[in-house]
Parts: sequence; structure tokens; C-alpha cells
Amino acid sequence: QRVGFAIVGLGRLSLEQILPAFAECKKARAVALVSGSPEKAKLVAAQHGISDSAVYDYQDFDRIADNPQIQAVYVVLPNGMHREYVTRAAKAGKHVLCEKPMANNSAEARDMIAACDQAGVKLMIAYRCQYEPYNRETIQRMRSGELGAARFIEATNTQVMGPADQWRFKKALAGGGALPDIGLYCLNTARAITGEEPVEVFARIFNPDGDPRYREVEETIGFMLRFPSGTIANCSSSYGAHESKDLRVRAEKGWINLENAFAYEGQELRVAHREGKAESIERLRLPQRNQFALEIDHMATCVKENRVPHTPGQEGLQDHIVMEALYESARTMAPVSLAAVGELDATR
Ligand code: NAD
Repeated sequence: QRVGFAIVGLGRLSLEQILPAFAECKKARAVALVSGSPEKAKLVAAQHGISDSAVYDYQDFDRIADNPQIQAVYVVLPNGMHREYVTRAAKAGKHVLCEKPMANNSAEARDMIAACDQAGVKLMIAYRCQYEPYNRETIQRMRSGELGAARFIEATNTQVMGPADQWRFKKALAGGGALPDIGLYCLNTARAITGEEPVEVFARIFNPDGDPRYREVEETIGFMLRFPSGTIANCSSSYGAHESKDLRVRAEKGWINLENAFAYEGQELRVAHREGKAESIERLRLPQRNQFALEIDHMATCVKENRVPHTPGQEGLQDHIVMEALYESARTMAPVSLAAVGELDATR
């Protein structure tokens, strides 16, 4: 029996990626929709074989409690709405998969973890890259030690944004700009590769003069993370630079280049190994898999087998704690020590 999901929010990600991905899931199915526009929702429901009676709006969302077909809720709303809908889903007794960034800040993230704990439901944050095979291979190779210790991680996530009338430019709905939206992938991947929490961070922000889009949130951020074992991650993220989403790891005995690391598809992985005086370069081809389907199936497996998700709420909280330190660093123009704050959970 597949785990039934209600999808909350029928925006671009839901329509173009998540709902189509359910067709490739093996353990999950979409059984309900939650949307502010009933006409659109009914049309989408018909396209995906979901019954009209399983279409809810934001006001009557809490009625999902009465629908036993819904075992989990996938929250795909603007970031500033995640806390409310994760909390309401938990109160309705449903497990929750929540889009990244988890929330607008760490205080909201803590509330969400507490609400899910109290309700006895699972909470997973949708860090799709951690389920994507090429990213997993990169993380696994670095963790295995075959290339020795990583000295540098270089991660870039940039894209050019459209006009100003989007929630992504409003702090109350987005929490921030390029950092929580796309720079988050650089941060989360650096943490996954090292398996460590940064002890010191430094960031600089740039906003173009007079651009009304960047009155409340940042356009461009460059940041550095220093990990306890010595790895330095240099990360770049911007809403104002042509799309590039690449990852490089420079290690003692080789390097890893992952092109399109943070994209939906098109990953290309090369691994260089030093063997004595010779260097070999391996070009890896892994089976193409839909990373959204892998992520959703992981949540379904956790529900079926009563397991803690690989990217639980705590994972989203850690990223918020580090992002807050990055904003503080950019504001004070000084490095910020996280070890001294003593906030980070070292149990990962
Ligand atoms: P979107 O703007 O396309 O869709 C947002 C949806 O929320 C729309 O259906 C909109 O009607 C609804 N909504 C309800 N109340 C709203 C309000 N007050 N203001 C604006 N919209 C409101 O956004 P999206 O790109 O689908 O992003 C949704 C979430 O998914 C965000 O948290 C985002 O960070 C995340 N996301 C993740 C990925 C990924 O690769 N995992 C990619 C894109 C977006």
C-alpha cells in the first residue's frame, strides 16, 4: 500500500516537478490537494487522478484530519507560511514533508520541530540533493576517505530572477534572498560532505543600487565556512548571475567536480585520483533518476517503516542557525564563531 500525500500549494514547483514526480514514485501517491483557487485545484486533481472531494482550501485545511487516505502532507508554500501549515498538519495527525528552506528563521524551525514531536508525527525537510544519486556519490566518496581529507569545497548556486512582484523579494514571505533560497544548497551540501558543523563563518552581501527587488532581501552573497577538521567551504550565491550550480571538492589525494550539482538534472561527475605519481580521471555515469521521486519515496518509506528521515527537521534548523550567523557576519563585516555560541548539535 502506497503512502498517501496531500500537496499544499499548487505553485510552480508543485505543478512542474512534484506532481509529475509522483508518477515515478514506488511507495507514495498524491491523494489530496490544498489550494487557494478551487478551479485550478479541480483541474489539477483531474489530471492526477485525485478525487474532487479531496480538494481543500487554506481555510478548511484542518479537515484533512478526517481523511484517512492522507498519511502525509507535503508543504510547498512560500517559506514564511511553512510554520503555520506544518503545525496545522501535525495537529491533524499527519506526517510532514516540508520544502526548503524549512522556515524564515531558527525560532520558527524550533516551533515546527516541537509541534511535530508533540503530535508524534515525522518531519522531513525536502533537501532533494541529498537524495540525488550524483550528490550522494560525492558525499559517500568524501566520507569514505578514499581521496583523503577535503581542503576546499567550492559551491556555487546562481540564477537570474524575474520581475519584482514575487513573494521571493518580500522578507516576511521569503525570510531572505539568494541565501535561503539557493545558497542553502551550497551550505547544506558542504555540511553533508564534511559530516561536520561549521565552527566559524564569514559573509559579504551585495545588492545593486536602486533595484527595488533588493530592498528587503539580498541579491548576492559570498560566504566562507570553516569546519573543525580544517576544510574551508567557499560558497557563492546570487539572483543576479547567469545560472550556474556547480560543486568542486579539492582533497589531499584528488578532486571531485560535479557540474549542475544543484540542478534538477544534467549532473556530470568527474573524480581525479592520485596514484603514486600518476593521476587518473574517472568520469561517472549513474542511472538518471528523478530526485523528487527519490525524496518523496524516502519519506514514504520512513512513514511505512517508522524510521527517522535522513533529513529531519533538525537538519533544517541547523541550516537556519548557520544562515543567521552568516547574516550577522555580513552585518558586522566580521567572522562569526559558531562554536562559541554553542548552538550547533554535534550529534550528526
Ligand atoms: P510559487 O510562487 O510558484 O508557488 C507558491 C504557491 O503558494 C502558489 O500556489 C501560491 O498561490 C501559494 N500561495 C498561498 N499563499 C500565498 C501568498 N500569500 N503569497 C504567495 N503565494 C501564496 O513558489 P514555488 O517556487 O513553488 O515555491 C514554493 C516552495 O517550494 C518554497 O518554499 C520554495 O523555496 C520551494 N522550492 C523548492 C525547490 C526545490 O528545488 N526543492 C524549487 C523551487 C521552490
